[in-house]
Amino acid sequence: MSADEWAVAAAEEILDRCDQLAELTCMENGIERDYLSPQMAQAYELTARWLEEGGLATHIDQAGNLVGRLEGREPGLPALVLGSHLDSVPDAGKYDGILGVVTAVSVATHLARTGKNKELPFAIEVLGFGDEEGARFGATLLGSYAFGGGWNDEWLERTDSKGVSMRQAFRDFGLDPDRVNEAARKREHYIGYLEFHIEQGPILEQRDRALSSVTSIAAASRYMVTIEGMSCHIATPYDLRHDALTAAAELISAIDAISQQAGTRANVGEISAQPGGVNVIAGKTTFSLDVRAGNDRLRDDVFDRIWARADEISTSRKVKISHTMIHTANSVQCDPFLRSCIEKGIERAENKEAFGLVSYPGHDGMAIAKLLPIAMLYVRCKGGVSHSPYESVTAADVAYGTQAFEQAVLNVAAHNLAYEKTSDDAREA
Ligand SMILES: [Zn+2]
Repeated sequence: MSADEWAVAAAEEILDRCDQLAELTCMENGIERDYLSPQMAQAYELTARWLEEGGLATHIDQAGNLVGRLEGREPGLPALVLGSHLDSVPDAGKYDGILGVVTAVSVATHLARTGKNKELPFAIEVLGFGDEEGARFGATLLGSYAFGGGWNDEWLERTDSKGVSMRQAFRDFGLDPDRVNEAARKREHYIGYLEFHIEQGPILEQRDRALSSVTSIAAASRYMVTIEGMSCHIATPYDLRHDALTAAAELISAIDAISQQAGTRANVGEISAQPGGVNVIAGKTTFSLDVRAGNDRLRDDVFDRIWARADEISTSRKVKISHTMIHTANSVQCDPFLRSCIEKGIERAENKEAFGLVSYPGHDGMAIAKLLPIAMLYVRCKGGVSHSPYESVTAADVAYGTQAFEQAVLNVAAHNLAYEKTSDDAREA
Protein backbone atom coordinates (compact mmCIF):
# COMPACT_ATOMS: atom_id res chain seq x y z
CA MET A 1 0.00 0.00 0.00
CA SER A 2 1.19 3.52 -0.70
CA ALA A 3 -0.09 7.00 0.04
CA ASP A 4 -2.60 8.78 -2.24
CA GLU A 5 -1.31 9.84 -5.66
CA TRP A 6 -1.26 13.58 -4.90
CA ALA A 7 0.72 12.97 -1.69
CA VAL A 8 3.24 10.76 -3.52
CA ALA A 9 3.79 13.56 -6.07
CA ALA A 10 3.90 16.18 -3.29
CA ALA A 11 6.57 14.18 -1.42
CA GLU A 12 8.89 14.31 -4.46
CA GLU A 13 8.38 18.07 -4.67
CA ILE A 14 8.88 18.48 -0.90
CA LEU A 15 12.22 16.64 -0.96
CA ASP A 16 13.34 18.64 -4.00
CA ARG A 17 12.44 21.87 -2.17
CA CYS A 18 14.38 20.77 0.92
CA ASP A 19 17.39 20.27 -1.43
CA GLN A 20 16.90 23.79 -2.80
CA LEU A 21 16.73 25.34 0.67
CA ALA A 22 19.90 23.43 1.67
CA GLU A 23 21.76 25.51 -0.94
CA LEU A 24 21.01 28.68 1.04
CA THR A 25 23.75 28.38 3.64
CA CYS A 26 26.46 30.51 5.24
CA MET A 27 28.76 27.47 5.62
CA GLU A 28 31.41 26.64 3.03
CA ASN A 29 30.82 22.89 2.96
CA GLY A 30 27.66 22.34 4.91
CA ILE A 31 24.31 23.76 5.90
CA GLU A 32 23.84 26.60 8.34
CA ARG A 33 21.07 29.16 8.12
CA ASP A 34 20.77 31.68 10.93
CA TYR A 35 18.12 34.02 12.26
CA LEU A 36 17.91 37.38 10.44
CA SER A 37 20.73 36.43 8.04
CA PRO A 38 20.97 37.09 4.28
CA GLN A 39 20.53 33.33 3.67
CA MET A 40 17.31 33.41 5.69
CA ALA A 41 16.08 36.30 3.52
CA GLN A 42 16.80 34.15 0.44
CA ALA A 43 15.01 31.17 2.02
CA TYR A 44 11.98 33.39 2.70
CA GLU A 45 11.99 34.67 -0.87
CA LEU A 46 12.01 31.13 -2.25
CA THR A 47 9.43 29.76 0.22
CA ALA A 48 7.18 32.81 -0.28
CA ARG A 49 7.24 32.12 -4.02
CA TRP A 50 6.07 28.54 -3.39
CA LEU A 51 3.36 29.80 -1.03
CA GLU A 52 2.14 32.38 -3.55
CA GLU A 53 2.15 29.84 -6.38
CA GLY A 54 -0.02 27.72 -4.09
CA GLY A 55 -2.52 30.56 -3.67
CA LEU A 56 -1.43 31.91 -0.26
CA ALA A 57 -0.83 35.56 0.64
CA THR A 58 2.58 36.09 2.28
CA HIS A 59 4.33 38.53 4.58
CA ILE A 60 7.18 38.63 7.07
CA ASP A 61 6.06 39.52 10.61
CA GLN A 62 7.80 41.96 12.96
CA ALA A 63 9.84 39.13 14.54
CA GLY A 64 11.21 37.99 11.18
CA ASN A 65 8.95 34.94 10.71
CA LEU A 66 7.57 34.05 7.29
CA VAL A 67 3.77 33.83 7.12
CA GLY A 68 1.53 32.44 4.37
CA ARG A 69 -2.24 32.71 4.69
CA LEU A 70 -5.02 30.82 2.95
CA GLU A 71 -8.56 31.95 3.73
CA GLY A 72 -11.25 29.46 4.68
CA ARG A 73 -14.92 29.50 3.67
CA GLU A 74 -14.99 33.25 4.30
CA PRO A 75 -12.19 35.79 4.77
CA GLY A 76 -10.88 36.74 8.19
CA LEU A 77 -11.67 33.55 10.11
CA PRO A 78 -9.40 32.48 12.99
CA ALA A 79 -6.51 30.39 11.64
CA LEU A 80 -5.15 26.91 12.19
CA VAL A 81 -1.35 27.29 12.10
CA LEU A 82 0.84 24.74 10.30
CA GLY A 83 4.38 25.63 11.24
CA SER A 84 7.99 24.76 11.91
CA HIS A 85 11.35 26.54 11.59
CA LEU A 86 13.58 27.50 8.66
CA ASP A 87 16.78 28.12 10.65
CA SER A 88 19.30 25.38 11.36
CA VAL A 89 22.16 24.36 13.61
CA PRO A 90 25.71 24.62 12.20
CA ASP A 91 26.52 21.69 9.89
CA ALA A 92 22.86 20.74 9.81
CA GLY A 93 20.83 18.27 7.81
CA LYS A 94 18.21 19.23 5.27
CA TYR A 95 15.10 18.29 7.21
CA ASP A 96 14.99 19.36 10.87
CA GLY A 97 12.36 22.12 10.84
CA ILE A 98 12.62 22.73 7.11
CA LEU A 99 10.65 19.60 6.18
CA GLY A 100 7.78 20.75 8.41
CA VAL A 101 7.53 24.15 6.72
CA VAL A 102 7.82 22.76 3.20
CA THR A 103 5.22 20.05 3.91
CA ALA A 104 2.85 22.69 5.32
CA VAL A 105 3.29 24.64 2.06
CA SER A 106 2.32 21.54 0.05
CA VAL A 107 -0.68 20.72 2.23
CA ALA A 108 -1.99 24.30 2.02
CA THR A 109 -1.39 24.30 -1.74
CA HIS A 110 -3.32 21.05 -2.13
CA LEU A 111 -6.22 22.40 -0.05
CA ALA A 112 -6.31 25.47 -2.30
CA ARG A 113 -6.02 23.53 -5.60
CA THR A 114 -8.82 21.14 -4.67
CA GLY A 115 -10.98 23.97 -3.32
CA LYS A 116 -11.22 22.20 0.04
CA ASN A 117 -10.14 25.41 1.78
CA LYS A 118 -13.48 26.96 0.71
CA GLU A 119 -15.23 24.56 3.08
CA LEU A 120 -12.92 25.09 6.06
CA PRO A 121 -14.44 26.84 9.09
CA PHE A 122 -11.02 28.43 9.67
CA ALA A 123 -8.14 29.94 7.71
CA ILE A 124 -4.75 28.21 7.33
CA GLU A 125 -1.56 30.02 8.26
CA VAL A 126 1.76 28.47 7.28
CA LEU A 127 4.51 29.67 9.62
CA GLY A 128 8.23 29.45 8.88
CA PHE A 129 9.85 30.50 12.14
CA GLY A 130 13.08 32.45 11.82
CA ASP A 131 14.72 31.02 14.92
CA GLU A 132 14.21 27.80 16.81
CA GLU A 133 17.73 26.45 17.18
CA GLY A 134 19.33 29.58 18.66
CA ALA A 135 22.57 29.07 16.71
CA ARG A 136 23.26 32.76 16.09
CA PHE A 137 22.42 34.46 19.40
CA GLY A 138 22.52 31.57 21.89
CA ALA A 139 18.84 31.97 22.86
CA THR A 140 16.43 29.50 21.32
CA LEU A 141 12.84 29.61 19.99
CA LEU A 142 13.06 33.35 19.31
CA GLY A 143 10.61 33.36 16.39
CA SER A 144 8.03 31.19 18.09
CA TYR A 145 8.32 33.03 21.43
CA ALA A 146 7.59 36.28 19.60
CA PHE A 147 4.55 34.64 17.95
CA GLY A 148 3.29 33.23 21.26
CA GLY A 149 3.74 36.49 23.18
CA GLY A 150 6.84 35.38 25.09
CA TRP A 151 9.33 37.78 23.49
CA ASN A 152 11.87 39.40 25.82
CA ASP A 153 13.36 42.75 24.71
CA GLU A 154 16.56 41.99 26.66
CA TRP A 155 17.43 39.49 23.91
CA LEU A 156 18.02 42.44 21.54
CA GLU A 157 21.30 43.20 23.33
CA ARG A 158 22.73 39.73 22.61
CA THR A 159 25.50 39.62 20.03
CA ASP A 160 26.52 36.98 17.51
CA SER A 161 30.04 35.57 17.07
CA LYS A 162 30.97 38.57 14.86
CA GLY A 163 29.85 41.08 17.51
CA VAL A 164 26.64 42.08 15.66
CA SER A 165 23.83 42.79 18.11
CA MET A 166 20.39 41.32 17.54
CA ARG A 167 19.11 44.88 17.46
CA GLN A 168 21.39 45.63 14.50
CA ALA A 169 20.52 42.29 12.86
CA PHE A 170 16.84 43.29 12.87
CA ARG A 171 17.71 46.56 11.12
CA ASP A 172 19.91 44.76 8.58
CA PHE A 173 16.97 42.43 7.88
CA GLY A 174 14.74 45.45 7.23
CA LEU A 175 12.81 45.21 10.50
CA ASP A 176 12.39 47.59 13.44
CA PRO A 177 13.83 46.06 16.65
CA ASP A 178 11.49 48.22 18.74
CA ARG A 179 8.42 46.60 17.16
CA VAL A 180 9.17 42.88 17.67
CA ASN A 181 6.44 42.66 20.30
CA GLU A 182 3.89 43.42 17.59
CA ALA A 183 4.48 39.89 16.31
CA ALA A 184 2.62 38.56 19.38
CA ARG A 185 -0.62 37.02 18.15
CA LYS A 186 -4.04 37.37 19.75
CA ARG A 187 -5.67 34.19 21.00
CA GLU A 188 -9.01 34.94 19.33
CA HIS A 189 -7.37 35.01 15.88
CA TYR A 190 -6.18 31.39 16.09
CA ILE A 191 -7.58 27.99 16.83
CA GLY A 192 -4.49 25.82 17.20
CA TYR A 193 -1.02 24.83 16.04
CA LEU A 194 0.07 21.69 14.19
CA GLU A 195 3.71 20.85 13.44
CA PHE A 196 5.18 18.22 11.16
CA HIS A 197 8.75 17.26 12.17
CA ILE A 198 11.31 14.49 11.83
CA GLU A 199 11.42 12.28 14.93
CA GLN A 200 15.09 12.93 15.85
CA GLY A 201 15.07 9.52 17.54
CA PRO A 202 15.04 5.87 16.47
CA ILE A 203 11.72 4.63 17.88
CA LEU A 204 9.71 4.77 14.65
CA GLU A 205 12.49 2.92 12.86
CA GLN A 206 12.59 0.31 15.64
CA ARG A 207 8.83 -0.16 15.37
CA ASP A 208 8.97 -0.21 11.56
CA ARG A 209 6.52 2.69 11.29
CA ALA A 210 6.53 5.88 9.22
CA LEU A 211 4.52 8.15 11.51
CA SER A 212 3.39 8.86 15.05
CA SER A 213 1.77 11.64 17.01
CA VAL A 214 3.56 13.36 19.90
CA THR A 215 2.08 13.03 23.39
CA SER A 216 4.16 15.74 25.02
CA ILE A 217 7.32 17.75 24.59
CA ALA A 218 9.51 16.68 27.46
CA ALA A 219 10.29 18.61 30.61
CA ALA A 220 13.99 19.40 30.69
CA SER A 221 16.26 20.52 33.52
CA ARG A 222 20.00 21.06 33.44
CA TYR A 223 22.42 21.25 36.33
CA MET A 224 26.13 21.63 36.96
CA VAL A 225 27.16 19.18 39.67
CA THR A 226 30.29 19.89 41.73
CA ILE A 227 32.07 17.32 43.88
CA GLU A 228 34.72 18.57 46.28
CA GLY A 229 37.16 16.16 47.89
CA MET A 230 40.87 16.58 48.53
CA SER A 231 43.71 16.07 46.09
CA CYS A 232 46.56 13.89 47.37
CA HIS A 233 49.24 11.44 46.22
CA ILE A 234 48.32 8.07 44.72
CA ALA A 235 50.18 6.59 47.71
CA THR A 236 47.30 7.60 50.01
CA PRO A 237 45.48 4.51 51.38
CA TYR A 238 41.83 4.19 50.26
CA ASP A 239 40.32 4.81 53.67
CA LEU A 240 42.04 8.19 53.86
CA ARG A 241 41.08 9.42 50.36
CA HIS A 242 38.45 12.06 49.48
CA ASP A 243 38.40 11.14 45.78
CA ALA A 244 36.14 13.48 43.83
CA LEU A 245 36.49 11.54 40.59
CA THR A 246 35.52 8.05 41.80
CA ALA A 247 32.59 9.73 43.58
CA ALA A 248 31.60 11.31 40.26
CA ALA A 249 31.92 7.95 38.49
CA GLU A 250 29.67 6.32 41.07
CA LEU A 251 27.09 9.11 40.87
CA ILE A 252 27.08 9.15 37.06
CA SER A 253 26.48 5.38 36.99
CA ALA A 254 23.65 5.85 39.48
CA ILE A 255 22.10 8.64 37.33
CA ASP A 256 22.16 6.30 34.36
CA ALA A 257 20.45 3.50 36.30
CA ILE A 258 17.85 5.76 37.94
CA SER A 259 16.89 7.38 34.65
CA GLN A 260 16.71 4.07 32.78
CA GLN A 261 14.50 2.60 35.46
CA ALA A 262 12.18 5.64 35.41
CA GLY A 263 11.89 5.66 31.60
CA THR A 264 13.36 9.18 31.32
CA ARG A 265 16.44 10.42 29.42
CA ALA A 266 19.55 11.64 31.25
CA ASN A 267 22.95 12.67 29.98
CA VAL A 268 26.26 13.74 31.50
CA GLY A 269 28.10 15.07 28.50
CA GLU A 270 30.76 17.23 30.04
CA ILE A 271 33.14 16.56 32.92
CA SER A 272 36.33 18.07 34.31
CA ALA A 273 38.63 16.83 37.08
CA GLN A 274 41.23 18.82 38.98
CA PRO A 275 44.11 19.08 39.34
CA GLY A 276 44.29 16.46 36.56
CA GLY A 277 47.47 14.47 37.27
CA VAL A 278 47.95 10.79 36.50
CA ASN A 279 49.37 10.15 39.97
CA VAL A 280 47.15 12.64 41.84
CA ILE A 281 43.78 11.79 43.43
CA ALA A 282 41.25 14.30 42.03
CA GLY A 283 40.28 16.99 44.54
CA LYS A 284 37.39 18.39 42.53
CA THR A 285 35.12 17.36 39.66
CA THR A 286 32.41 19.25 37.87
CA PHE A 287 29.95 17.70 35.44
CA SER A 288 26.84 18.68 33.53
CA LEU A 289 23.53 16.87 33.91
CA ASP A 290 20.51 17.10 31.59
CA VAL A 291 17.34 15.17 32.42
CA ARG A 292 14.26 15.00 30.16
CA ALA A 293 10.94 13.45 31.10
CA GLY A 294 7.48 13.14 29.57
CA ASN A 295 5.94 15.09 32.45
CA ASP A 296 7.12 17.41 35.22
CA ARG A 297 6.34 15.08 38.14
CA LEU A 298 8.42 12.27 36.65
CA ARG A 299 11.36 14.63 36.12
CA ASP A 300 11.10 15.91 39.70
CA ASP A 301 10.96 12.32 41.06
CA VAL A 302 14.09 11.40 39.12
CA PHE A 303 15.98 14.39 40.51
CA ASP A 304 14.83 13.55 44.07
CA ARG A 305 16.29 10.06 43.64
CA ILE A 306 19.51 11.36 42.08
CA TRP A 307 20.12 13.85 44.93
CA ALA A 308 19.30 11.20 47.57
CA ARG A 309 21.90 8.91 46.00
CA ALA A 310 24.35 11.85 45.90
CA ASP A 311 23.91 12.24 49.68
CA GLU A 312 24.78 8.56 50.21
CA ILE A 313 27.86 8.80 47.99
CA SER A 314 28.91 12.00 49.71
CA THR A 315 28.95 10.15 53.06
CA SER A 316 30.59 6.95 51.85
CA ARG A 317 33.28 8.72 49.79
CA LYS A 318 33.81 11.62 52.24
CA VAL A 319 33.26 14.35 49.63
CA LYS A 320 30.92 17.34 49.34
CA ILE A 321 28.40 17.22 46.48
CA SER A 322 26.46 20.32 45.38
CA HIS A 323 24.43 21.26 42.32
CA THR A 324 23.33 24.43 40.53
CA MET A 325 20.39 24.61 38.12
CA ILE A 326 21.32 26.22 34.80
CA HIS A 327 18.11 25.66 32.85
CA THR A 328 14.64 24.35 33.43
CA ALA A 329 11.54 24.06 31.25
CA ASN A 330 8.32 22.29 32.12
CA SER A 331 6.81 19.76 29.77
CA VAL A 332 4.18 20.77 27.24
CA GLN A 333 1.30 18.34 26.79
CA CYS A 334 -0.13 18.07 23.31
CA ASP A 335 -3.83 18.92 23.06
CA PRO A 336 -5.87 15.66 23.17
CA PHE A 337 -8.32 16.79 20.46
CA LEU A 338 -5.67 18.01 18.00
CA ARG A 339 -3.64 14.89 18.75
CA SER A 340 -6.64 12.68 17.94
CA CYS A 341 -7.06 14.56 14.63
CA ILE A 342 -3.43 13.75 13.80
CA GLU A 343 -3.77 10.10 14.88
CA LYS A 344 -6.90 9.62 12.77
CA GLY A 345 -4.95 11.16 9.88
CA ILE A 346 -2.13 8.67 10.44
CA GLU A 347 -4.56 5.74 10.57
CA ARG A 348 -6.20 6.85 7.33
CA ALA A 349 -2.86 7.33 5.52
CA GLU A 350 -0.97 4.30 6.84
CA ASN A 351 -3.97 2.04 7.49
CA LYS A 352 -2.40 1.03 10.81
CA GLU A 353 -3.15 1.88 14.41
CA ALA A 354 -1.57 5.20 15.46
CA PHE A 355 0.40 5.79 18.66
CA GLY A 356 2.10 8.70 20.39
CA LEU A 357 5.72 9.32 21.43
CA VAL A 358 7.22 11.73 23.94
CA SER A 359 9.37 14.31 22.16
CA TYR A 360 12.67 14.60 24.03
CA PRO A 361 14.01 17.36 21.78
CA GLY A 362 12.46 20.82 22.21
CA HIS A 363 10.27 22.35 19.47
CA ASP A 364 8.56 25.61 18.50
CA GLY A 365 5.36 24.22 20.02
CA MET A 366 6.85 24.82 23.50
CA ALA A 367 6.75 28.58 22.86
CA ILE A 368 3.39 28.45 21.06
CA ALA A 369 1.67 26.41 23.79
CA LYS A 370 1.42 29.48 26.03
CA LEU A 371 -1.01 30.88 23.43
CA LEU A 372 -2.57 27.94 21.59
CA PRO A 373 -3.33 24.23 21.88
CA ILE A 374 -0.62 22.36 19.98
CA ALA A 375 -0.04 18.92 18.48
CA MET A 376 2.72 17.34 16.39
CA LEU A 377 3.14 14.69 13.72
CA TYR A 378 6.45 12.82 13.70
CA VAL A 379 7.95 11.23 10.61
CA ARG A 380 10.66 8.56 10.76
CA CYS A 381 14.25 9.66 10.05
CA LYS A 382 17.05 7.26 9.23
CA GLY A 383 18.84 5.93 12.32
CA GLY A 384 17.12 8.63 14.38
CA VAL A 385 19.97 10.94 13.33
CA SER A 386 19.40 14.72 13.40
CA HIS A 387 21.42 17.93 13.70
CA SER A 388 23.79 16.28 11.27
CA PRO A 389 24.39 16.24 7.50
CA TYR A 390 23.35 12.57 7.69
CA GLU A 391 19.70 13.43 8.37
CA SER A 392 17.63 11.34 5.98
CA VAL A 393 13.96 10.63 5.24
CA THR A 394 12.30 8.55 2.52
CA ALA A 395 9.88 9.87 -0.09
CA ALA A 396 7.43 7.11 0.87
CA ASP A 397 7.36 8.22 4.53
CA VAL A 398 7.01 11.88 3.57
CA ALA A 399 4.09 10.94 1.28
CA TYR A 400 2.29 9.18 4.16
CA GLY A 401 3.10 12.14 6.40
CA THR A 402 1.81 14.72 3.92
CA GLN A 403 -1.44 12.81 3.45
CA ALA A 404 -1.85 12.36 7.22
CA PHE A 405 -1.10 16.04 7.86
CA GLU A 406 -3.75 17.21 5.39
CA GLN A 407 -6.19 14.68 6.84
CA ALA A 408 -5.47 16.08 10.32
CA VAL A 409 -6.49 19.55 9.09
CA LEU A 410 -9.70 18.12 7.61
CA ASN A 411 -10.38 16.24 10.86
CA VAL A 412 -10.10 19.49 12.83
CA ALA A 413 -12.57 21.05 10.37
CA ALA A 414 -14.99 18.11 10.53
CA HIS A 415 -15.08 18.35 14.29
CA ASN A 416 -15.74 22.08 14.18
CA LEU A 417 -18.62 21.56 11.74
CA ALA A 418 -20.04 18.75 13.84
CA TYR A 419 -19.78 20.96 16.90
CA GLU A 420 -21.59 23.83 15.17
CA LYS A 421 -24.28 21.46 13.91
CA THR A 422 -24.82 20.06 17.39
CA SER A 423 -25.16 23.53 18.87
CA ASP A 424 -27.60 24.50 16.07
CA ASP A 425 -29.60 21.34 16.77
CA ALA A 426 -29.53 22.13 20.47
CA ARG A 427 -30.78 25.64 19.74
CA GLU A 428 -33.63 24.30 17.57
CA ALA A 429 -34.58 21.82 20.28
ZN1 LIG B 1 13.50 21.30 14.68
